[in-house]
Amino acid sequence: MLQSSSLFAIRPEINTLQPNLVKWRRQLHQFPELGFQEKRTASLISAQLTAYGIPHQTAIAQTGIVATITGTKARIENAPESQGIKLNNSQHPVFAIRADMDALPIQEENITDYRSQIERMMHACGHDGHTAIAIGTAIYLWQNRHNLAGTVKIIFQPAEEGPGGAKPMVEAGVLKNPDVDAMIGLHLWNNLPLGTVGVRTGALMAAVELFDCKIIGRGGHGAMPHQTIDAILVAAQVINALQAIASRNIDPLEAAVVTVGQFQAGSARNVIADTANLSGTVRYFKPELADFLAQRIEQVIAGVCQSQGASYELDYHRIYPPVINHPVVTDLVRSLAREVIETDLGIVPECQTMGGEDMSYFLEKVPGCYFFLGAANAAKKLDYPHHHPKFDFDETALAAGVEIFCRAAESFCS
Ligand SMILES: [Zn+2]
Ligand SMILES: [Zn+2]
Repeated sequence: MLQSSSLFAIRPEINTLQPNLVKWRRQLHQFPELGFQEKRTASLISAQLTAYGIPHQTAIAQTGIVATITGTKARIENAPESQGIKLNNSQHPVFAIRADMDALPIQEENITDYRSQIERMMHACGHDGHTAIAIGTAIYLWQNRHNLAGTVKIIFQPAEEGPGGAKPMVEAGVLKNPDVDAMIGLHLWNNLPLGTVGVRTGALMAAVELFDCKIIGRGGHGAMPHQTIDAILVAAQVINALQAIASRNIDPLEAAVVTVGQFQAGSARNVIADTANLSGTVRYFKPELADFLAQRIEQVIAGVCQSQGASYELDYHRIYPPVINHPVVTDLVRSLAREVIETDLGIVPECQTMGGEDMSYFLEKVPGCYFFLGAANAAKKLDYPHHHPKFDFDETALAAGVEIFCRAAESFCS
C-alpha cells in the first residue's frame, strides 16, 4: 500500500497531493505577508478548504483559521485515554495540528520563478511550506474521515515571527469546543538534511525575552571627567557584569544566554556621554529560570549603576515561553516518524535550539510535541539558514510532513 521513495514511506494518496503542495507553497511564497496582515494567505487557505467542502472558521485573532474535521468512525475502545493521553471525552478524542502563516521583512535574493513579488518581504522561514502541509493534511483527513474516530482541528496561526499569534488564538478559544486533548506542529528545518526528523522530550526551543536599558549618568567635558558620571563607562561595566549571569549564576548543565546586541551612546570625541542605551535578548530552556533571570539582570544593572552614582530605566519583555514537548506525545511522534523516514540518518535525537517559537503557548495548555522536519539539500544549494535572503528548502519534505501529521491524527483518533 505504501510507496517507498529512497527517503520517505508515503501513501499514494498523499504522494498524489505533492504537486498541489508545491503549487500552494509557491503561490504563498510569491505573496508573503507579515504578522496579522495574512489576508491573501488566509484567502488561499479558505478557498482550498471551501473547494473540498471542509468546515472552517476564518478571521480568528484577525487572520487565523481553524478547520474542524469530525471523524465518522465509531470509537471501538471506550477507554478514558488515547495513546497514553487522558481524554476530555472518552468517546471522542480531539487532536490538533498547528501551522504558522506569516513571512518576514527581508528582501529575497533568490532568482526563481516563484520568488517573492513583494519588495522587502519574504517567506524566509518556511511558513509557506507549513501552511501548504496543513492544507494538504486537512484535505487528506477530510477525504478519509471515515477512518477517524474523533475530531481533528487544523489551526492556521498568524504572526509567529512577531508580535505573536499563538497566544491570541488560544485566547480566542481555538483549543475549546471541542476541547483539544493533544497537539502537534512542525518546523521545516534547514539545520537538518532532507530525510531526517529532529525531536526531543522536554525543552525543544528556548524562551525568548528582550530588554531595553537606558543608563543615566551626567555628561560633561571630555577633559574634566571628575565633574561627570560617564554613562559609557557604566554601561561597559554593566555589559561585562551581565556576562557573569550565564557563566556564574546558572548551573553549567543548564543553558542560558544573555546577549547585549545593541549599545548606543555618545555624540562627540571630547564629550562624556550623559546616557547610554543597551538592548539585548535572553534565552533559556527551563521555565523555572524565568523569574530568576529577569530579577538577576535588574539586580546587576542596579548594583553597577549604584556603585557609579548612575541611575537606569529598564524595560523587560517576555516574548515567548520555552517550547516544552510532552513525553507521551513525543514518543508517538518519534515512533511514527521512524516509520515514515527511511534514511540512515533517520531521527536526530536530542535536537534542541536556542531559537524561540510561540507554539509554546499551545503546549502550555495541552500536551503536545513540536518537531523539526529536515529540509536542507546542499547538493541543490537549498541549505541557507532560516531568515537568510537566499533561504529556500527542498519541497520533497512537504509530503513527508503531511504523512507524519496524518499518521499522528489517525493514531490519536482511533
Ligand atoms: Zn523564523
Ligand atoms: Zn519559523
